[in-house]
Amino acid sequence: MELRTLGVDIGGTTWSVGRWDGDALQVIATGVTGEHAPEEVRGLRSAIAQATVLGEPVDTVGVAFPGAVAKDGRVTDWPNRPRWVGAHLASALGIGRDVRLEVTDDGVAALRGETALGVGRGLSDVLLLTLGTGIGGGLLLDGRVRAPLPHDARTIGHLRALPPDGVSHTRCSCDRTGCLQTALASLPDERVLREQGLAAWPAGERLLDFLADLTRILAVPWLVLTGGLLCRDALREALTSGAADRGLTMRVPARPEQSTLLGALAAGGWQHD
Ligand SMILES: [Zn+2]
Repeated sequence: MELRTLGVDIGGTTWSVGRWDGDALQVIATGVTGEHAPEEVRGLRSAIAQATVLGEPVDTVGVAFPGAVAKDGRVTDWPNRPRWVGAHLASALGIGRDVRLEVTDDGVAALRGETALGVGRGLSDVLLLTLGTGIGGGLLLDGRVRAPLPHDARTIGHLRALPPDGVSHTRCSCDRTGCLQTALASLPDERVLREQGLAAWPAGERLLDFLADLTRILAVPWLVLTGGLLCRDALREALTSGAADRGLTMRVPARPEQSTLLGALAAGGWQHD
């Protein structure tokens, strides 16, 4: 199978570029995005230029991006990284008109990647959450990806499901309180989680309670948790046991930091020899 797609994952703190080398994801380059992006993503632009100009032929660049992008390619909203708003995505990445650009919400990309090629393969109903700078995610129902509202960067991480009772009082980047992703503000470090488990993270307990209710209501049997934070052993173990306590059947990919990049490739479409 040949895939003439380059995958690009742009997150709140890191970026990565990769392609499919025949039967596995090959990460070509990684770097940091940071507060001053998109002005300071020269490394990303140069990795894309090298791969599209000097590498194997590329006809599509699939970009997993957490912000909302209008039809003309301009970023219209990204609460976690407002400096991107107004940027023209193709220009910021140095992508020419001869290459097709496919932009996908990062949570939806991770869902596509894991259900097409990863731990969700063969499943038809999955709720997936990515835990990183914020919380993103996507829903697969009856084998169909349910895409978020167009031009709205607020996805599952901005569901206001955490009660204002002191467990989660942090204001979200979207300027509201109670958003699911504000649970990350009180995430304990690895040593504390290893010693005390989820009891040390009340907002995490609320997050899992909500996910258990949501999957029950939707009759979705599978929860996939992924994203860079799931690389942390104690956090992964605490969430896995917390999910089991709530009757949730959960899967975590072996390389959770790569789900979104995998999805950026899958979004570009597959070409068979
Ligand atoms: Zn929010």
